[in-house]
Amino acid sequence: MSDSIERAVDALENFIREDISADTPVPLHEPSFEGNEWKYLKDCLDSGWVSSIGSYVDQLEKETAEVCGTKYGIATVNGVSALHAALIGVGTQANDIVICPALTFIATANAISYCGAVPLFADSENVTFGLDPDKLEQFLKEECVHHSKGLVHRQSGRRIAAIAVVHVFGHPARMDELLSIAQQYLIPVVEDAAEALGSHYKERPCGGLSQVGVISFNGNKTITTGGGGLISTNDEVMARRLKHLTTTARTGQGWNFDHDKVGFNYRMPNLNAALGCAQLEMLPEFIERKRRLAKCYRDLFKDVDDVSFVSEQNWARSNYWLCAIRVPDIATRDYFLQLSNHKKLLTRPCWHLIPETNAYQNSLKIDNLSVAKHLAETLINIPSSPILSVAMDKH
Ligand SMILES: *Cc1c(COP(=O)(O)O)cnc(C)c1O
Repeated sequence: MSDSIERAVDALENFIREDISADTPVPLHEPSFEGNEWKYLKDCLDSGWVSSIGSYVDQLEKETAEVCGTKYGIATVNGVSALHAALIGVGTQANDIVICPALTFIATANAISYCGAVPLFADSENVTFGLDPDKLEQFLKEECVHHSKGLVHRQSGRRIAAIAVVHVFGHPARMDELLSIAQQYLIPVVEDAAEALGSHYKERPCGGLSQVGVISFNGNKTITTGGGGLISTNDEVMARRLKHLTTTARTGQGWNFDHDKVGFNYRMPNLNAALGCAQLEMLPEFIERKRRLAKCYRDLFKDVDDVSFVSEQNWARSNYWLCAIRVPDIATRDYFLQLSNHKKLLTRPCWHLIPETNAYQNSLKIDNLSVAKHLAETLINIPSSPILSVAMDKH
């Protein structure tokens, strides 16, 4: 084992360090500002519209929705606030259950908690790393009952309000299967496409595959607004409601205004949106570079024992937000992480399963989460910044 891992890390180092000196740390994902960022930011400052109103917000909403294949976008201060609002949008209430994967970034579960609801953690599937449709269906069939208030989890007595589906590392989950199960049980689906801007599921863009989707523009995502998020939907009523909810639920006109419910100040500032508009222009270029990087990595590890590169399915087109490799076990993983981080290649394990964090101990779970657990122990993310293609092009 150790021989092949040493060879794999050496290969990674030689490839990445073509253009980057040995003492420079190589982060997992750093943003690139190569387009109109300065121009739009300056324009924003010159105009004086830096805050909660401005044309860049409208533009970012419109153009990101287009990338998601939807009619409406609502820009927010970050991805988790977009998720929070989206969950409320599909009717999540205090004490409900929202089903979500155990293997995802903690924000997915936190947004559920912000609603006063509880997450019920479900297992992943071994190929896409998304929710396992078969296990989900079995759970709904065997452990839930129909009730006048909706589908109810027998053991806890809680209503199942929604299913949050995540596209892990930008790889689309099995949406057709998941949506058909959800529809059968009349449960709305919130698509956590935080990592999947520009990814496609069977030719259709992620973020627009269910009633409501969510994008993140955090600094480590494919494109960034510094911090930011977006809700994407084709549902006009939903769009209007969520715009209202995320902008302090203000009613009335001019000086004569009121607030008709407890809303949130989740609106993205114009300054961040200006950055986002410039970044969005670069999105096709970034995705092309990331896909080329993925291809190089695939070749690099092709003949290395114990290491396999994680590729998209033939029905998917991934944005390869974070490239990943898989190794046989946790000892191999830790050896790879240790060697590569020693060389200042800032590789990283996948997330801890959320129900294993202190924040979510004793949570509800669907069975033993065996696949998610194994994935968490054997996945490694490797440097995936769009800038890495600069070195790559010289190979
Ligand atoms: C990044 C991310 C989020 C949240 O985004 P923030 O902008 O950091 O709040 C939510 N879900 C997943 C799966 C993410 O990767």
